[in-house]
Amino acid sequence: MSKILAVANQKGGVAKTTTVASIGAALAAMDLSVLVVDLDPQGCLTFSLGHDPDHLEVSVHEVLLGESDIVDALVSTDDGMTLLPATIDLAGAEALLLMRPGREYALKRALAQVTQDYDVILLDCPPSLGVLTLNGLTAADEVAVPLQCETLAHRGVGQLLRTVTEVQQITNPALTLLGVIPTLYDSRTTHSRDVLADVSDRYEMPVLSPPIPRTVRFAEASASGATVMTGRKNKGSQAYRELADNLWQHWDGGKALATLETAV
Ligand code: ADP
Ligand code: MG
Repeated sequence: MSKILAVANQKGGVAKTTTVASIGAALAAMDLSVLVVDLDPQGCLTFSLGHDPDHLEVSVHEVLLGESDIVDALVSTDDGMTLLPATIDLAGAEALLLMRPGREYALKRALAQVTQDYDVILLDCPPSLGVLTLNGLTAADEVAVPLQCETLAHRGVGQLLRTVTEVQQITNPALTLLGVIPTLYDSRTTHSRDVLADVSDRYEMPVLSPPIPRTVRFAEASASGATVMTGRKNKGSQAYRELADNLWQHWDGGKALATLETAV
């Protein structure tokens, strides 16, 4: 069995990339084989996993355009994952793909060749609802939406959910909406909780547990090129470990996903 999870939200800075890197590293530490895919032309996931986008010959760009075989683009990361990296070239893929028939299926087609090799494939979507995110949603079995727990952070969630519905109607009827992953959570304020309760009510979406607390270690980790899971234990990496464990028990063991008790 292999599961493909897209992590999507057209808002930047909600911890999509951090979530993919951290859950991926946590699953790899559980001895699972994990592929992470960078779909953002900024290459933040690629960089944060120790690869310099400026020094890569082949990347997801060539793979999506059918110019390279996916296996020729894969690289390994220090924490035991495989990465399909992105470079700034990917910014041009958007326009090139738009001219092609079946443009939403490019990633799905490429991944089909390697899906059997992995237990879990995580897709780090860019901060837009363009053709790259549509490729992610079309290739995925499930989608999770990281949401920063602050006022107005969820403006735009409605638009994202409409896109998910359209993908379900047109390119990927099997896509399941897993729910919200609460990020940058500040447990000292009731405000974070209120935002989550509001989102859960308004959009009738599960909110996955545990929430990921805001910790200064994350910013340090992404600046140093090491993932947040390496180094000393901290509240953030512990929460991601627990979330990764819940996800795997859900996928592999059929256990119901733990969700937050959001009643105020
Ligand atoms: P996105 O991919 O949605 O744009 P990122 O994962 O790049 O978001 O995160 C945006 C910024 O927030 C980064 O600088 C990252 O280090 C920081 N960050 C992410 N998660 C946390 C956290 N739990 N605590 C503190 N900073 C975080
Ligand atoms: Mg990102």
